[in-house]
Amino acid sequence: MSSNSACETWLPEDELQLHIERDETIVFASSSGHCNLDCSYCIISPIAKHQPSLSYDDLRFVLDQLNGRVFMIFSGTGDFFAAQRRDDLLLTRLLEDPRLSVALDINGVVVHCIDTLPAEALARIRQVNLTLHYRQLVDHNALRHWQRNALMLLQRLEPVVCVNMILSAPEQAVWEPALEWYEANVHRESPKPLHLIQDVNRPLTAADDNVIAHLQQRFGSMIRSVRRGSFAQVFEPFDYVTCPAGQEYFRIWHDGRIQACPNVPELHDCGHAKERRFAPRTAPLDCHDARHCDCYHIASAGKMVFHRAGHNPASR
Ligand code: SF4
Ligand code: SF4
Repeated sequence: MSSNSACETWLPEDELQLHIERDETIVFASSSGHCNLDCSYCIISPIAKHQPSLSYDDLRFVLDQLNGRVFMIFSGTGDFFAAQRRDDLLLTRLLEDPRLSVALDINGVVVHCIDTLPAEALARIRQVNLTLHYRQLVDHNALRHWQRNALMLLQRLEPVVCVNMILSAPEQAVWEPALEWYEANVHRESPKPLHLIQDVNRPLTAADDNVIAHLQQRFGSMIRSVRRGSFAQVFEPFDYVTCPAGQEYFRIWHDGRIQACPNVPELHDCGHAKERRFAPRTAPLDCHDARHCDCYHIASAGKMVFHRAGHNPASR
C-alpha cells in the first residue's frame, strides 16, 4: 500500500487528533517564550521563563506571507497565554482574519480573550487542549483560577475542549487526588471526561498500571482514555514519505525563527518572523524520518504521500 488517501483510513480515529482541512497551510506556532508553571515532566528543558515571544505584528507578518486558509496550532515552548497581557488582545486580533483557524495547547492558569470573542471567531477555535497540571496548581495556589477558566472554556467551547492529565510515574501519588479534585470542582458542574496521557520520557511500571486500573474502575466514564505509545508507531509500515514541509507546513518559534521542519537540519532556516524574512520551499521533500508529532498531524490532514519498498508511489 502506498497512498495518501489511505492515510485517513489508517490513522486511528481519535478525539485528540487535530482536524485539519486539506486546503489549509499548517503553522505550528510556539509563540510563547514563557510558562508560569514548573512541571517536573516538562519536555522543554530548561522550562521557558521570560524569553522573547511573538507579538501580533510578528504573527501578522507570517499570515500575510501565506495564501488562502491557515491553521495555526499554538503549542510548544511556553504557555500561549502566559506571555501576554490581557490588553494585548492577541487572540481576538488574530481571529479578526477570517482565513485563520486555531488550536490552543494551554495550561489553563491564565486565559485571555475567549470570554469576550464573538461567535464567528469562537467557531474558528477548532481545538483547545487544556491540561490539568495538578501538583503545579497546588504549589502555585492556582486551583481556583484553573477551575474558573476550565468552566468558562467548557461553557463557550465544550465540543472542542480536550481535558488532559499527564501520568508521570514520579508523581503517581497525586494522580488520584487530582482526579478527585477534578470530579468535585469541574466534572460535577460540567461533565467533561478527561484523557490520561503517559509522560513520554518516563516509562510506567507494573505498579503504575495497577493504579491506572484502579482509577479507571473508581472514576468510570470520567476517564475517556489512557494514551500510551508514540507517533512513530503510525509511520513504521512505511519506508519514507513525501512531505510538504516548507510549502504547506511551517514551524515558528517564540524568538521568531521560521522552519520548514525542526527535525530535518537542512530545513531549519525558512525565514524569521521578527526580521520579516520568509523563504518557503519550492518542492516537497522525501523524508525518511517521519516519526514526530508534527508528522502525524500533517499526515492526518491528508498532505503526505506514503512509500513502501516494492510499491509504486501514489500521486498526491
Ligand atoms: S505547563 Fe506545559 S510548558 Fe509549562 S512547565 Fe508545564 S509542561 Fe512545561
Ligand atoms: S520530519 Fe516529519 S514534518 Fe519533518 S520533513 Fe520529515 S515527515 Fe515532514
